[in-house]
Amino acid sequence: MRAGLVREIRGETPGFASRLSSFTALCEARAAEADERSAVDPEVLTALRSAGILAAPLPREVGGDGLMEADCWSSLFDALRRLGSADLSIGRLFEGHANAIDLVRRNGSAEQLRVLAEEVGNGAMTGVWGADGRSPLRVARTSQGWRLEGGKILASGAGLLTRPLVSAASETGQRLVLLDLTGSEKVDLSAWTPLGMRSSATGSVDLSGIIVPDSSLVGEPGDFMRQPYFSGGAWRFCAVHLGGMERLFELYRRQLRERGRGEDPYQLQRVAACVSAAGNASLWIRTAARQLALDMDQAERCVALSNLARGVTERAALDIMEAVQRGAGLSAFLRPNPIERVARDLATYLRQPVPDLAMADAARFALGSERAIEALWSFDAD
Ligand SMILES: Cc1cc2nc3c(=O)[nH]c(=O)nc-3n(C[C@H](O)[C@H](O)[C@H](O)COP(=O)(O)OP(=O)(O)OC[C@H]3O[C@@H](n4cnc5c(N)ncnc54)[C@H](O)[C@@H]3O)c2cc1C
Repeated sequence: MRAGLVREIRGETPGFASRLSSFTALCEARAAEADERSAVDPEVLTALRSAGILAAPLPREVGGDGLMEADCWSSLFDALRRLGSADLSIGRLFEGHANAIDLVRRNGSAEQLRVLAEEVGNGAMTGVWGADGRSPLRVARTSQGWRLEGGKILASGAGLLTRPLVSAASETGQRLVLLDLTGSEKVDLSAWTPLGMRSSATGSVDLSGIIVPDSSLVGEPGDFMRQPYFSGGAWRFCAVHLGGMERLFELYRRQLRERGRGEDPYQLQRVAACVSAAGNASLWIRTAARQLALDMDQAERCVALSNLARGVTERAALDIMEAVQRGAGLSAFLRPNPIERVARDLATYLRQPVPDLAMADAARFALGSERAIEALWSFDAD
């Protein structure tokens, strides 16, 4: 048996997989109401905390399922796509939570990880708040500690996360600060008036005046955007998007059958287009995930692959949304048909930073490479 396959089998997380099944069933059942109310369902929030979902990305030695470790890449892929399929907003929150834990795991001290693990075990949620608005977040050393000035925008889970990891400019470069929020911070969700992803609680947070100790600063300046992790990790949101695409297809298939329209040749053509687009995206995302986990020393290759996976995922999602909406017709735009909501969520969540640059950087890598096209990446199962 080849080494990669052994790692993959060892990396299975069966306990987590069954907890995830009950959790995703709950998310799916509550997604429509959460969208209606533009808020995470309280029972989903409780289950996130109590069902061991939040702890799963933590390393095993601090009580987690080790989901962010290299040998678990396949379980992580599966978890992200299943959560995305159940409710894209919950998938977004979990992806951010897992990303923050991974940043602390890779860059923080053992003590920082231990403390975070203890708090996550007690129900705390984290996430990565990187986007800056008109008052970009800064951190400066003062006699009392490190003082924050400014805030964050487009911060998912604003008002819910108690331990967000934020990027902040400093004299020595960009720092990561693990906050311990009290609930008294100024959170503003009023500008979050999106088409979809309404229940992701994405808002702006004013962090001015907060003073944190040395122990809140994670890693060294520049760690946040260190490659290949920063761009290479994009495969994770792609996996959540894939879940949304798969859900749309499932809904379309079911509705075609119910209406007895499945045998129509044009509908069959759309079904084929959806299945191949989702399969194509899955192949690229899994390949990018595996490469980042098991072959990360080839940083530029990892980044290029993940950037291309982003483009393939976006194209696949746009094609599937078009096919499903044309194939289901007007009913795809009428509430409470879940196609209406999932397509809104997917269209919104697909908007990720600098897609043109990601594509152009990947193209430049391919242009400059001496490798034959079939040797640029390996799509084999391992
Ligand atoms: C549901 C949701 C939740 C989110 N949660 C978080 C979160 O928790 N934390 C966080 O940090 N962020 C979060 N974000 C923000 C996210 O990370 C991105 O910042 C945001 O989605 C960027 O979208 P955009 O379309 O405005 O990107 P842009 O990068 O502005 O892209 C828009 C278009 O402009 C092009 N473009 C970009 N730059 C240039 C340029 N210089 N010149 C010409 N063209 C350019 C792009 O290629 C693209 O075509 C969230 C976003 C969403 C949708």
